[in-house]
Amino acid sequence: MAAPRVSFVSLGCPKALVDSERIVTRLRAEGYEITRKHDGADLVVVNTCGFLDSARDESLGAIGQALAENGKVIVTGCLGAEPDVIRKTHPNVLAVTGPQAYESVMAAVHEAVPPAHDPKFDLLPPQGVKLTPRHYAYLKISEGCSNRCSFCIIPALRGDLVSRSAADVLREAEKLAAAGVKEILVISQDTSAYGIDLKYQTSLWRDREVRAKFIDLARELGELGIWIRLHYVYPYPHVDEVIPLMAEGRILPYLDIPFQHASPSVLKNMRRPAHQEKTLERIKRWRDICPDLAIRSTFIAGFPGESEDEFQQLLDWLDEARIDRAGCFKYEPVKGARSNDLGLEAVPEELKEARWNRFMARQQQISAQLLKKKVGKRLPVIIDATQGNTATGRSKYDAPEIDGVVHVNSRRPLRVGDIVTVKIEASDAYDLHGTAV
Ligand code: SF4
Repeated sequence: MAAPRVSFVSLGCPKALVDSERIVTRLRAEGYEITRKHDGADLVVVNTCGFLDSARDESLGAIGQALAENGKVIVTGCLGAEPDVIRKTHPNVLAVTGPQAYESVMAAVHEAVPPAHDPKFDLLPPQGVKLTPRHYAYLKISEGCSNRCSFCIIPALRGDLVSRSAADVLREAEKLAAAGVKEILVISQDTSAYGIDLKYQTSLWRDREVRAKFIDLARELGELGIWIRLHYVYPYPHVDEVIPLMAEGRILPYLDIPFQHASPSVLKNMRRPAHQEKTLERIKRWRDICPDLAIRSTFIAGFPGESEDEFQQLLDWLDEARIDRAGCFKYEPVKGARSNDLGLEAVPEELKEARWNRFMARQQQISAQLLKKKVGKRLPVIIDATQGNTATGRSKYDAPEIDGVVHVNSRRPLRVGDIVTVKIEASDAYDLHGTAV
């Protein structure tokens, strides 16, 4: 009997991508074939994002497209936590399940298209199925979040922090490395909070007990001998401990810290974790220990009540902090977020737009200046894509999909996943250009 075919659509952030990988792994293990085309598939599964209104629209659009091209559609993911929204627009979807509802998605798939599993064959590679290219993979260390940022509905969608044991995380990381993954991107909603819910409980990894603690996990991951990149870290004092590991080259000198703002009053209204930390001083201290530390962050322009002075503080902070990469979102009043009910005046759309433009122009200048300093250096670059004698890759300072790239010329053909030394010859606002040596 031919394997039933499932077309899978993965929308949203890297965290949603990890959920998708888990579902696809299960589908493959049960003998389903995965395809990217709706046409000719027996079923479509759409993993949605429901965070911002624009993402909700994209998700609803993807569901509509799947219904039009195929007709049999199961919806899961963040927007799946609001079945009414989905059913109002698309009453014909077969089933709606929420984020991380792996069992319910599988039950819905079984009901729509029964599996054709042949237990004689082991269909699944031991490290699971990765939707990212084989040379890098996301490693999710926890689910949910115990913070309550006022603009965010993730805790309502995904619940409080639930960490995996250190041994469980490390086993997965080891399998990935053994399967040829060269770079692991550690993700969660709040990576620095890892293990708090477990009271840092130890678990047996190789011959030793390892605590479920941010620094201990980072140290052990650093032993794997591959690139380890940390995302979604907050500037708590204990994060200082990880910087020496970066200086020693055990993990990448890269921190993705969603600062969101720099004005203490806006941060307070946002109810951000670690909002009282003096971030500029902290960044300076980190750079004293690890001078080539790259920091990437995201910010929100036009949060309710944000005054011109407060926004100016953010621009001044950018000038001082000189972080390598920064993304900016215009505030969106997400339905269900407490920030809408704080009694703060909404910032008009034109003003949000103007502030966003000012932010982007300022950061673009800073990023271009920092990149220019890399010209003339020789940097290790991991190759993501090749075309003849040219390739695109990333330095240690750039994460896939969100940061810039290095455009590489080479006399010999390069392969995806190679880590090569590149002499940097030019830079622009976001990217570097160079030749493999
Ligand atoms: S840290 Fe804040 S923004 Fe991030 S998931 Fe938790 S509540 Fe949401």
